[in-house]
Amino acid sequence: MNQIKNKDHKQIGQELELFFTHDIAPGAPFWLPKGMVIFKELEKYIRDLTEKAGYLETSTPIMVKSELFKRSGHWVKFGEHNMYNLMLSDEVNDLNPISYTLKPMNCPESTILYRFKTRSYKELPLRFSELGRLHRREKSGEVNGLLRVRQLTMDDAHIYCREDQIFQEVSNILDMMIAFYKNFGFEYEFRFATRPEQRAGTDAMWDKAEKDLEEVLKKKNIKAGDKKGDGAFYGPKIDMHIKDALGRDWQLATVQLDFHMPQAFDLQYVNEKGELEKPVMIHRAIFGSFERFIAILTEQYQGAFPLWLAPVQIMIMPITDKQEPHAKKLVEELKENGIRVELDNRPQTLQAKIRDSSLQKIPYLGIIGDREIKETNISIRTRAGEDLGKLEISKLIHKLREEIDKKI
Ligand SMILES: [Zn+2]
Repeated sequence: MNQIKNKDHKQIGQELELFFTHDIAPGAPFWLPKGMVIFKELEKYIRDLTEKAGYLETSTPIMVKSELFKRSGHWVKFGEHNMYNLMLSDEVNDLNPISYTLKPMNCPESTILYRFKTRSYKELPLRFSELGRLHRREKSGEVNGLLRVRQLTMDDAHIYCREDQIFQEVSNILDMMIAFYKNFGFEYEFRFATRPEQRAGTDAMWDKAEKDLEEVLKKKNIKAGDKKGDGAFYGPKIDMHIKDALGRDWQLATVQLDFHMPQAFDLQYVNEKGELEKPVMIHRAIFGSFERFIAILTEQYQGAFPLWLAPVQIMIMPITDKQEPHAKKLVEELKENGIRVELDNRPQTLQAKIRDSSLQKIPYLGIIGDREIKETNISIRTRAGEDLGKLEISKLIHKLREEIDKKI
């Protein structure tokens, strides 16, 4: 592969008006309308997937008192210097400010949702999902476009279940990861990350958690590479690594088994016999971070996103002003069918319009001249310069809808 030809996501983000970063907020992206289309499509996709898999969507505060992260163990093990902490008073003249934290992860707050009421074994597995906005204090030298940010959006989820449900839950999550990444055409592999030096919980907890994950991998016949000592501080994990267009390795999806957090937050459920038991907590993310995932997709496709993600899916071009009223009607018809369409009615030559549309990586161009109006069809070209000939309008709508719905 010729690497010189490849642009990085920052350059593509500027050229296609998707996103950018600004000195006013280092490490936190600004999303332009076209970038937001991609973000929202991915959000919709992951919401549909999780809803079908029985997850319940939740939302928790961005800023909470630091005491929560002290109790969870993050303050010491994750490191207070890796979070944004602020000393704030409730009143202007209050001389006893309290330490607040911008959450670097959702887990501790998820346990507060769990503790909202007494839980019964009948509710388990309880799957709480959250598209949470997180802040992490990355070093300024390491911040890089959308690949490494200080503010990120995670497609997070926490599953509370009984010990005998671990296999099924972890197994379902691994299947979801595989289906998801196959759809984008990424090569992937799994890695098994075991107990780190800095950790919470007892050795017995770790022995059990590691054994459980190992068993899932074995039963599912998944060969996982080793990431010894690279587990989360509260539990071992199975990470999915993908290879992007440049052959670079990225860790995106993860599933983590945790016996520590239920202990630290004293989580309980009432079992069949009416006795109190501790649930197990499973953490999982499929994208990892939307920002990083979109950066990788942008570089992978070099801005030529598949139709369902393309900010503009088809550009309509009347050859002269004369066909403009007809072109406008067609634009309305495409919009009514849920297709993202724009009209190029600038006083430019057709050649110039075709070139601009291709540079913007718009998947399809529809050209309308007098002959097309007479024959009630439209000439279609692809962004790669392929001439698809003339299509009747109803056939064009059917073709686009089919590609969008199948996420080709
Ligand atoms: Zn978590």
